[in-house]
Amino acid sequence: MIVQLNKGIAKDKAEELALKYQATLFENGSFVLVTSSKVKLASDELKQLADGIFITDTDIQLAGKPYYADKREIKIGDFSIGGNTKNSLLITGPCSVESEEQIEASAQLCVELGIKVLRAGAYKPRTSPYTFQGMGLAGLKLLDKMRSKYGLKIITEVRDSTHVDEVIEYADIIQIGAKSMYDHGILRKCGQSKKPVLLKRGFGTTLQEFVQSAEFILSGGNPNVILCERGIRTFETKTRFTLDLCGAAWLKEHTNLPIILDPSHAMGYAYGVPDLARSCMALGVDGILIESHPNPKAAKSDAEQQLNFEEFKALHASLKKVGEAVGYKVI
Ligand code: PEP
Ligand code: MN
Repeated sequence: MIVQLNKGIAKDKAEELALKYQATLFENGSFVLVTSSKVKLASDELKQLADGIFITDTDIQLAGKPYYADKREIKIGDFSIGGNTKNSLLITGPCSVESEEQIEASAQLCVELGIKVLRAGAYKPRTSPYTFQGMGLAGLKLLDKMRSKYGLKIITEVRDSTHVDEVIEYADIIQIGAKSMYDHGILRKCGQSKKPVLLKRGFGTTLQEFVQSAEFILSGGNPNVILCERGIRTFETKTRFTLDLCGAAWLKEHTNLPIILDPSHAMGYAYGVPDLARSCMALGVDGILIESHPNPKAAKSDAEQQLNFEEFKALHASLKKVGEAVGYKVI
């Protein structure tokens, strides 16, 4: 249950109510109390103090349509996704920042194609501890350099809560990876920021669990959450994961959060990424994340799935057409 308290209610009164009704408290212009969906308080006291009361069946609450029926608009610098924009944000870059030369080539590709957001990881959450773990802070600094030099927005991931402040400082969009979707240290820190957060779905999580992770950020006071479906684990082993397009359709229908799809990590092999990306665009989504690399064969992580620049350029041109056909503008 969500109780939007009256504007005039002071912080100490809101805190007293939160304690009394065992609610999570945050501020969005006025104070908001959120209790578990199992608790339905029909208290006259709350009714008198509230501007709005929203009762939901599940703990998909702040992300749910009963609370906010439209799609949230998320501003990223001077442009937005979600709301009524019908923008579909194409995000690209290599899996990892590897060197200045490499990330600069990717930044230049973005500039050439008019792409606004460059993505690369500096802290990589790898499956094996013996593979490249990312450049860390040095990688963030290179991304920062690309932002100033080329005017690009940067998305980069946080691997664990030891460097979450650093990533929040350097990123324009904070990525929380699939393996970190349950890390409450990260979720809570991101909830205290106002920067947009791209939350990836864990590959073994249900849609309910995925959106509940988003609720940790939203109920921390950060309204700028973007959901990212990146493939789930099924019995199939020929592809890396299985992109859950049904799930994406469900999220569109039942949540108020923008949705970005990631065909690269789902497929795991470059040959399948262009067709899958076009299928994603045909669904009408708020963005697509595609890994590309100046020399994929030499990539230090996710080498098999990254497109080379020629492949990416051809895909970019075709995505614009698919977007147009379903009423979305590729930005
Ligand atoms: C990535 O985006 O490079 C990555 C590691 O993705 P995921 O968290 O989806 O595995
Ligand atoms: Mn990757």
